Amino acid sequence: MSEPRLNDPHAPLNRTWMQRDLNALWHPCTQMKDHEHYPLIPVRRGEGVWLEDMAGQHYLDAISSWWVNILGHANPRINAKLRTQMNKLEHVILSGFTHEPVIQLSERLGRITPEGLGHCFYGDNGSAAIEIALKMSLHYWRNIGRPEKRRFLTITNGYHGETVGALSVSDLGLYAAPYESLLFDVLKVPSPDCFGLPREQWDEHAARMFVHMEQAVAQHAHELAAVILEPLVQCAGGMRMYPPSYLTRLRALCDHHGVQLIVDEIAVGFGRTGTLFACEQAGIRPDYLCLSKALTGGYLPLSVVLTTDQIYDAFYDDYTTMKAFLHSHSYTGNALACATALATLDILEEDDVIAGNRHRAQRMAAAAETFRTHPHVGDVRQTGMIVAIEMVKDKASLTPFPFEERRGMRAYEVALAHGVLLRPLGNVLYWMPPYIISDDEIDHLAEVTALALEAATAS
Ligand SMILES: *Cc1c(COP(=O)(O)O)cnc(C)c1O
Repeated sequence: MSEPRLNDPHAPLNRTWMQRDLNALWHPCTQMKDHEHYPLIPVRRGEGVWLEDMAGQHYLDAISSWWVNILGHANPRINAKLRTQMNKLEHVILSGFTHEPVIQLSERLGRITPEGLGHCFYGDNGSAAIEIALKMSLHYWRNIGRPEKRRFLTITNGYHGETVGALSVSDLGLYAAPYESLLFDVLKVPSPDCFGLPREQWDEHAARMFVHMEQAVAQHAHELAAVILEPLVQCAGGMRMYPPSYLTRLRALCDHHGVQLIVDEIAVGFGRTGTLFACEQAGIRPDYLCLSKALTGGYLPLSVVLTTDQIYDAFYDDYTTMKAFLHSHSYTGNALACATALATLDILEEDDVIAGNRHRAQRMAAAAETFRTHPHVGDVRQTGMIVAIEMVKDKASLTPFPFEERRGMRAYEVALAHGVLLRPLGNVLYWMPPYIISDDEIDHLAEVTALALEAATAS
């Protein structure tokens, strides 16, 4: 499938659309002035792992369109189920009313997530799921007569979304700095991130870092509502990784001190880390499990927070006790979105996709091996279907390239010209492809990444 000739992202047909776009839009997570130099790629079609621009050039979507698309673009099986649902019911208010797709999806999520998470509360994006979990936790403690438990604790370098509550429990200054005055005060302990360490040392490192967590939870248990974190991979924080043992310890610690645990699997749920959910690897059940992104196979916005009977019951009382969780979004439990989620779960099951990912992950590991010896690669790490290659200025000391040099953007441009959509996070190149990627496509991705890496690290 690789294109023999180089892509020209500035091709005339693309430029026309780019001009119209720039007159009318404002893009997410973008300094719009960058588009004076960097092309904006107008996409007219998608198929499998490939995107096609207005000039007919192809790009391998190596980042699953921001981590959402796990089963390929224009997937015929998801399309068919979406069409069927569309002819029956597109959406209905979910207060006082319900519908078949949302009931089926909730039953099914209850079955496939860690045992005991039997109640699904829906939102329409990941950040909303985080707000729901935070509010539920706070409200839970209030309902059971412990209103003083209202603080949250997290690990550094985390990311949980862009709305004000989600931003408060995140730790990426870059996204939060201008809004500091809006954010609430959150406790933070150093991340167990294993950057630069060989796999054999991850557990030992995480155990050492857990001491900070132990101290903080013990000291603040009386005022803590919950600990919130991303399991195994801090995605937006540069695909930094840590082992399941940290989560196993954390679950026991939270139980011991009567603190709830919110696990944000928005980016890693549905097979990304090698198991259907990252929690499985640690053998834990969180009090709140937040899911979104791949939930609908990358088709439609939908998120969900799963929680336990015990928490649900703390809200269940006569209306006048004011214990109800009075939170809602207009598109809560949208029927079309639920239908695409059901179609996604069907495919994951019918094709035994998670088992297939073991082979694909090995192929990705083999393809990434060559980068280890590169003089400007400080770390090559992998968890399941995520591979990260971190560029450094100095390999021995792991000194990063200054962010002003925008090395990642150089890699982005070269990859586009060679028909691959990489979207580095600062100095971190990563692969997070749809699970339908073929062996040949993985090899193509590795070849283009090598070219991108060369260009990005040249002086
Ligand atoms: C993307 C993401 C979110 C926010 O989801 P949105 O749908 O973008 O609001 C929250 N947590 C994690 C871990 C994410 O990667």
